[in-house]
Amino acid sequence: MTHKVKSSNLGYPRLGEQREWKKLLESFWKGNTDTETFEATAKNLRIANLKKQIDFGLDIIPVADNSNYDHVLDTAAAFNLIPTRFGSYDRPLTLAEYYSVARGDKNNVAADMTKWFNINYHYTVPEFDNTVPRLLENRWLKYWQEAKDELNINGKPVIVGPVTLIKLGKLNGDYVTSSEDINRLLDNILPLYVQVFKELQDAGVEWVQLDEPTLVKISDETEVSPYRRVIEALRFEAPKLNIELQTYFDSIDPYEAVTALPVQAIGLDFVHGYGENLTHIREFGFPEDKILAAGVIDGHNIWAARLDEKLDLLKELQSVTNKIWVQPSNTLLHVPITKRYETHASPELFGGLAFADEKLQEIVVLTRALNGEDMTQAFRNNTATLRALNNSKERNNDQVQAAIASLSETEFERKSSYAQRAITQQKRLQLPKLPTTTIGSFPQSSEVRAKRAAWRKGNLSDEDYQVFIESETKRWLKIQEDIGLDVLVHGEFERTDMVEYFGQKLDGFYATQNGWVQSYGSRGVRPPVIFGDVDYIAPITVEASQFAQAHTQKIVKGMLTAPLTIINWSFVRDDISRADVQNQIALALRQEVINLEKANIEIIQVDEPALREGLPLKQRHWQNYLDEAVYSFKITTTGVRDDTQIHTHMCYSDFEDIIDTISALDADVISIETSRSHGEIISAFEDADYDKQIGLGVYDIHSPRLPSVDEIAENIRRGLKVIDDSQFWVNPDCGLKTRNEEQTIAALKNLEAARNIVLAEISSN
Ligand code: GLN
Ligand code: ZN
Repeated sequence: MTHKVKSSNLGYPRLGEQREWKKLLESFWKGNTDTETFEATAKNLRIANLKKQIDFGLDIIPVADNSNYDHVLDTAAAFNLIPTRFGSYDRPLTLAEYYSVARGDKNNVAADMTKWFNINYHYTVPEFDNTVPRLLENRWLKYWQEAKDELNINGKPVIVGPVTLIKLGKLNGDYVTSSEDINRLLDNILPLYVQVFKELQDAGVEWVQLDEPTLVKISDETEVSPYRRVIEALRFEAPKLNIELQTYFDSIDPYEAVTALPVQAIGLDFVHGYGENLTHIREFGFPEDKILAAGVIDGHNIWAARLDEKLDLLKELQSVTNKIWVQPSNTLLHVPITKRYETHASPELFGGLAFADEKLQEIVVLTRALNGEDMTQAFRNNTATLRALNNSKERNNDQVQAAIASLSETEFERKSSYAQRAITQQKRLQLPKLPTTTIGSFPQSSEVRAKRAAWRKGNLSDEDYQVFIESETKRWLKIQEDIGLDVLVHGEFERTDMVEYFGQKLDGFYATQNGWVQSYGSRGVRPPVIFGDVDYIAPITVEASQFAQAHTQKIVKGMLTAPLTIINWSFVRDDISRADVQNQIALALRQEVINLEKANIEIIQVDEPALREGLPLKQRHWQNYLDEAVYSFKITTTGVRDDTQIHTHMCYSDFEDIIDTISALDADVISIETSRSHGEIISAFEDADYDKQIGLGVYDIHSPRLPSVDEIAENIRRGLKVIDDSQFWVNPDCGLKTRNEEQTIAALKNLEAARNIVLAEISSN
C-alpha cells in the first residue's frame, strides 16, 4: 500500500518579521511592558507564525517551539533544573524570575550560556547540582492546546529530549558525560517526561517531536542505551502517543541501533553529515515499521534548493521505505524569516534566496510532487531561477575562478623559516622583551555609535564622519603612547563588526536588509551573504592604518579578519565548495596584506577567532577542516617580506587538540585568550614546544572588573614558566570594544606596570 507523503516542519523562527519578539522582550526588561501585555503580544506572534505555516499547506506543524528566550532554558525551567542560586520552585517561574536566570539580576550572575552544536546560536546551560527535578508546568500541552483552540490544528509539540538536556548541562561545573551520571539524572528526570507525555496523550496529541540531536555525536552502539531507556519508558507509559525522534546537524554513526529504537518516526539530516545518512540507508535500508522524516531542505543556509535534485533524493528514499515525511534538516530557527524584504538584492540573487517561509513552500512543493500532483511549473521556475543566479556576472568572475583553479599546485610559504624571520624582524622593529600591545578595538562608545548611526541615516556627511573617526584614532593613539604600550592599534572605530566590515568592501557579498537570525536571547545578527565570486576591489584598511602610523613614532599594527572567520560568520553560497569560497577570500585579503606592507605597516594582525568554533561535530572530519584553514590563512599572509611581522588572534584557549594547527599557520606571533583558563592552556604549550612568539591574554576583557597589577604580573610569571621570555608578549584577552574608556585605560595602565615589574625581575636575574 502506498502512503501519502506528508510535509512537516521542525520549528519556526521566533524573532518576528519585524523583530517584534525582540522588541517585546526588551520592552519588558525595561519595564515598559507589563506581564499581561507581554503575554497577549507573545500569543499573537505565536498564532501568526502558526497561521503562516497552515496557509503554506504544511501537514504537520510544530507547536511549543516558541520561547521567551531559549528553548533549552524553557525545558530546564519547566523541570526546575535551574541553577540553585536562583531558587527552587514548586510553581511555574514568573517572567521576571525566568529572565533572572537568563540574564542575571542584581544578586546573581546569569546562568552560563554556550554555543549550540557548531552553529551561531547560544543556549542557556542547565545545571543539575542540588536541584530537585519537578514538573512545574507542562508548557508543551499548554501551547498545543492554544493552537488547537485558536486554529483548530493538532500540532506537534517539540521537546528537547532528556538525554540531550542532560548532556548539554553541567554537574559540579562539568558537562555530563559518564553513563553513570546520565543514568542517575535520568532516574529523576525521566519520570517527569513520562508525565508530560501521558498528559499529551490524554489530551489527544497525535505526534510529539523528541529532539535528541546529541545522537549525532555518539560513535558506538553502547552509547545508544540511555536514549533507548528513555524511549522505552515513554512508549510504555504513553503508548498511544507517536514519537518522532529527531536528529540533526550531522549523520548517525550507530545507524542500525538508532533506527531500531521503538519510535514511529525518525528524523534524519540529509543535508549535513557528508552524505553519510544516505550511505547508511543504501547499505542497511530503513525499518518498515517507521516513518522516515527526511530532512532534505537546508535549515541553516539561505539558498533555494535545487528541487529536481531533492526530488531525486526523495524518490531514492522512497524506494527504500514508502513512509516519508519531507522536512527541513533542522529547525528553521537558524535562518531568517522571509526574503520578501530584500528589495536591494539583484533579481538573480533574490531568486536564489530561500529563507524560512520560502523553505516551507519548497517542502510543500516536493511533497505534492511525490504525491503525484503536477508541479512541473514550480520545478521549471526553480531551475530557471537557479540558472539565472549561476549565470549572473557575480558568479562568473573569470579572473577569480582562474586563480582558484591554479591554486592546487601552489604552495604558500614565507620566504624564510620563522627563526630567520625573527632575526630580521627584530632588527627592524627593535621591540623590548615582553612587548605590550592590544588586540585591536577600543571602546565603541555611545558617541561612536551615535555618529555612525547619524552618518548612516545621512545626517552626518562622509567628511564629517571621517573627521570624527580620525579624531578618535588620534585621541587613542595618544592614550596608548601615554600608557607606554609598545605596539599600537588604530582602534577599529570604523567597524561595527569585524566580518560585516570586510563584507561591505569586497565583491561577492550581499548585506541583507532584514536577514536577522537569533544569536542569543533578544540578540539578532544579520550574517553577510557570500553569493558571488569574492574579489578585491580596493584597499580596505590601508588608509586607517596609514593615518594612524603617520600620527605616532611607535609601531602601528594593521588589522584584518581572516578567511575562515569571515565564512564561519556568513551565509555561504553552496554551489561551490566552502574551501573554494574561503580561498577566494584569502586571495583577496592577500592583496590587502601586501598593500599594507607597501604602505610601510610593519606588523599586520590577521584575526581568526572563529577557527575553533567551526570544527565539524565529528572528530574524523577535523583534519581536513584544519588543513583547509591553514591553507587559506597562508594564502592571506605569505605575500610579505621576511621583516614584516604577521600576528594572529584567537579568542579561546581550548587548544590542546589543535595546537599543531596553530603552529602550522606559521604566524610570527599569536595572541590568545587565557586569563579565564590559565591552567590548561599552559599545559598545552608545555607539551607542544612552540617556537614562535605568543601573547597570552593576561586579563579578562569580558568583565568590567579592574585587574590589579599583582594579578596581571602573576599571570605573566605563570606564562613565563612554560614560554621563553624571548617569545612572550603581554596583551589583554581580546578586543576592548565592549569596555568603556575608563575601564580600558585603568586596566592597560596596570598591564603596563605589571609588564615593567616582571621585566625588571628578568633583567636582574
Ligand atoms: N581585532 C578584533 C578586536 O579587537 C578581534 C576581535 C575578536 O577576536 N573577536 O575587536
Ligand atoms: Zn578575541
